[in-house]
Amino acid sequence: MIGEGHEQRQAKAMRGMRPLIAGNWKMNGLGGSLAEIASIGRWIANNRPAADILVCPPFTLIARAAAVAPDHLRIGGQDCHAEPSGAFTGDVSAEMLNDAGAVAVIIGHSERRHFHGETDEIVAAKARAAWRAGLLAIVCVGEKEDQHDSGQARNVVRAQIEASLPQGANPANTALAYEPVWAIGSGRTPSADEIVSMHGSIRAQLEERLGAGGALLRILYGGSVKPANAPTVLSQANVGGVLVGGASLRAEEFAGIIRAAADASSHDSRFAV
Ligand code: PEP
Repeated sequence: MIGEGHEQRQAKAMRGMRPLIAGNWKMNGLGGSLAEIASIGRWIANNRPAADILVCPPFTLIARAAAVAPDHLRIGGQDCHAEPSGAFTGDVSAEMLNDAGAVAVIIGHSERRHFHGETDEIVAAKARAAWRAGLLAIVCVGEKEDQHDSGQARNVVRAQIEASLPQGANPANTALAYEPVWAIGSGRTPSADEIVSMHGSIRAQLEERLGAGGALLRILYGGSVKPANAPTVLSQANVGGVLVGGASLRAEEFAGIIRAAADASSHDSRFAV
């Protein structure tokens, strides 16, 4: 069976309430960018932050990134197909990600929903595929700007979670990323109060749907996280980590965010390991 030992390694690395700091490189990076992975790896080895660290490079770099990343730096994918194999030209399955050395996969990122027409149902199928292959599914949700401005954010996010997070989600196999679409790549972020309010509402929904597991499942915030705002974002209630785009591309900037997570977790008993 694909990924048995691998699954155990993943569960060990990703369990519990250690904050998860995940970098999404999007469609950026050639072979030369592996130096950034090696550099983040060295920084983590030297600083041993109390956080789970994941970098999701493009498909083409996953195997090479996994080969240069030390044990404490995990590698993930940015998408997968719902089927394990078949006539789906250009697609990559969750099993293939696992085989290449990934331990996690981002599912339903707003850019996938927008540019590739991914519906909540497709996202749910991909989350199940990630679990089938022993990967941590990072399921993304978030409202658009007009929905935010018209006060619909909570309802939109609630409906997305209802339809795109399958039953069976638990803290070991899933993290949920709240990424307001208007905050991604824009340099704008919600206020701390807005983050607390949204993450609190998501937590209540997860507990309703998943019971005890819903209380522990990590809820990440994503959207223009930088070293300067990471301490504020990461110290808010029910923020169990961050999903970082642009600021994950350079080791130095990413390390600044990881440092903020380690500081926040050292002051917060929720993150005790
Ligand atoms: C993202 O792409 O998930 C993201 C949060 O991007 P950025 O940090 O660049 O806003």
